[in-house]
Amino acid sequence: MDYAALASGSRGNCHAFSDGRRTLLLDAGISLKQIRARLEAIGWDPGLVAAVAISHEHSDHIAALPVLVRRTSWSFLVTADTLAAIQAAQGIEIPRERLVTLRAGHATDWDGLRILPFSVPHDAADPVAFRLEWGGFHAAVVTDLGHPTALVADHCAGLDLLALESNHDVQMLREGSYPPALKARILSRVGHLSNESMAGLLGNILCSRLKTVVLAHLSEENNDPALARFAAAEVLQHTGTTLHLACQGSPLAVAARPR
Ligand SMILES: [Zn+2]
Ligand SMILES: [Zn+2]
Repeated sequence: MDYAALASGSRGNCHAFSDGRRTLLLDAGISLKQIRARLEAIGWDPGLVAAVAISHEHSDHIAALPVLVRRTSWSFLVTADTLAAIQAAQGIEIPRERLVTLRAGHATDWDGLRILPFSVPHDAADPVAFRLEWGGFHAAVVTDLGHPTALVADHCAGLDLLALESNHDVQMLREGSYPPALKARILSRVGHLSNESMAGLLGNILCSRLKTVVLAHLSEENNDPALARFAAAEVLQHTGTTLHLACQGSPLAVAARPR
């Protein structure tokens, strides 16, 4: 199973997993045109995309949905509460036959891929992160959470690949130009994960099989990629785990395991 961060950050998020036969996207916060262009840029066939799993209804995760419903035949995997929030926000109707209803804490089998959504503390209707399992390969994409709960740590155990939020440097955010209310929201327990909290969680879930860590959802305003990288590298030193940074403007592909 290969992994790609097609885009990651507050201006749009989209992750992808593929076994070379079909591709699953996680979130659709960039345009369909960008999704296709970025897949092509990393040598993945856009025609293999079959479904999108949605983590929560914030626009940086769902902006492309109305176009995806109209212009593709993809399926949408989403919890009932997030679907209701999306319909309220975007006024779209997703045809019932293209919907797969997820439930946090319950695994769904999608064409041989096991998808386990689990709850994360974030200010949305029913926010989830995803753990995926395919043929003994375990991966998780965990972004948009205010703090690392024990439940989150449990679901990050025994992974081969983890894409984890490293949103902000607390000092940069505090001293930065955001309005006080927005700073408070990001810093809250249902906001976004700081570099410091990311490193704490990473330290808790380290295991010998963890081959790849991808830092994701970095703030362009309140973080410095060098600070995020340093915080993670300190935890990962001497482990042999490879560290990558996902970014907003260009895709990152990781051949997680040879096919
Ligand atoms: Zn987000
Ligand atoms: Zn969010």
